[in-house]
Amino acid sequence: MQPRPLTIAHILERAERLFAHKHVATAGVERLTYAEVADHTRRLATALDSLGVPVGARVATFARNTRRHLEIYCAVPATKRVLHTINIRLSSDHLAYIVNHAEDDVVFVDRGLLPLIWRSVGHLPRVRHWVVLPDGSDAAIPADPRIVHYDELISGGDPFTGSFEDTFVLADENLASGLCYTSGTTGPPKGVLYSHRSTVLHCLGTLAAGLIGLGESDVVMPIVPFFHANAWGLPYGAMMAGASLVLPGPSTDPAHLLRLWETERVTVAGAVPTVWTSLVPELGAYDLSATRFLLGGGSAVPPALAETYRAAIGVPITHSWGMTEVSPVGAIGGTRTQHREATAQERVAVRAAQGQPLPLVNLRIVDVETGRELPRDGHAVGELQVAGAWVAGGYFRVRADDSFTDDGWLRTGDLATIDADGYLRLVDRIKDLIKSGGEWISSVELESAIASHPDVVEVAVIARPHPRWTERPVAYVVLRDGGAATADDLVRHLTPMVAKWWLPDEFVFMTELPKTGTGKLSKKALRESARTV
Ligand code: ADP
Repeated sequence: MQPRPLTIAHILERAERLFAHKHVATAGVERLTYAEVADHTRRLATALDSLGVPVGARVATFARNTRRHLEIYCAVPATKRVLHTINIRLSSDHLAYIVNHAEDDVVFVDRGLLPLIWRSVGHLPRVRHWVVLPDGSDAAIPADPRIVHYDELISGGDPFTGSFEDTFVLADENLASGLCYTSGTTGPPKGVLYSHRSTVLHCLGTLAAGLIGLGESDVVMPIVPFFHANAWGLPYGAMMAGASLVLPGPSTDPAHLLRLWETERVTVAGAVPTVWTSLVPELGAYDLSATRFLLGGGSAVPPALAETYRAAIGVPITHSWGMTEVSPVGAIGGTRTQHREATAQERVAVRAAQGQPLPLVNLRIVDVETGRELPRDGHAVGELQVAGAWVAGGYFRVRADDSFTDDGWLRTGDLATIDADGYLRLVDRIKDLIKSGGEWISSVELESAIASHPDVVEVAVIARPHPRWTERPVAYVVLRDGGAATADDLVRHLTPMVAKWWLPDEFVFMTELPKTGTGKLSKKALRESARTV
């Protein structure tokens, strides 16, 4: 067989050749075809040369999901530079650390986000060019020679006629194509470097029928940000499949997202559970009947939330497990043929699982203390370890790291079971487990039970130090508008579902829970605030 390398240029070329007429719609204000996006990408590719950006250099984005961001997603790796998508919600310390650690040569930044990053510019001496992306904002643009305007830059680019793959020949498919940093709950953030090979294989893996199964007739809306582990592969996936893309742009307002979903007749969307939760109150006001698949991950999707969607629009949220180090998708949930005869309740339980590993991904669970592999019996709980064609083998510019086992598997820091059918069920993150009287309480399981109360919108359970029991659970709860549940009501609701000693010592009612940069509940922030109270 031909040893032809797998390349991201091929994904772009395929969209341009086969699906030129399909659309990329941004925020309900702009609609381009893949032919137009490809033309811009060609111009950007040559414009990067004119800016003197070397092959292999890191090119960063600090931007929302827009078609210009998509053009950068394609042009940077196709021309053998490395796309570094920066989380726009980082603290200024982490931001400076990441940009300097990556040695970003150029940063593409949404105009509306420019003031946010420009505050740190004095700490980012290596960035040679700042390219401003128009996004409808009129934020001030500093008079600085390093600033370049995106539309001017690409209008000066050359829309060469040759094919991408032939023009920017990639000799080695293992060349780096993308870079994402994990949030660094302990120590500084760590970079994960993706390759052309891993990105293309991940794309094919997620696209397979029976998994996400994107097809040409789909209209795909990644609500998950482009900077959150490459929007879970959805942008490249849509281009590979020839599906149209709908990009939410700067606003994350629920009414904006739902209007876009309705008017663009979106069939597939992906978001973290906190975003799915934020859309619930207004779900009934929109015609979402084109929907066929909803993807949720990044943290556990409570079964009650998945079922709310199934009841409201006929499509549950399909659970997926992943992490930045896994490109990010490692497992996808949902029922299979063997569940056809199952009761409704059994099917809900299957859908609650994080799912089966994708092809080319290997999962195992091991005893945390001894490192011994545990049986796949659905009961034994151990640390989840993962290996595969799109799983990191190390971190960018980190020599040795104890995240990897001697035989090369990635330790995920997650505790899980795997059953005889290969279904993965996450019990908790090791660091989020609550140790009470020598026994463990799963914060995730307790949260799912509390979230099944109809008045509860959001909940996070954390450990509070206790002199006798070591730790005890405390639940932070947000009620829906008009919800009146009291702590006693929640205890009554929980009593038939969990052991008595699992019942939280306290329920703290809040109007909002703190979130991380990727929109997940921030238990770290809750723990810190609990400590200072
Ligand atoms: P961060 O540490 O910034 O959250 P990632 O986005 O890479 O970085 O998060 C990966 C982690 O998110 C996983 O190790 C796991 O703990 C959690 N996670 C991802 N998907 C799920 C899921 N479906 N259910 C429960 N936890 C999940």
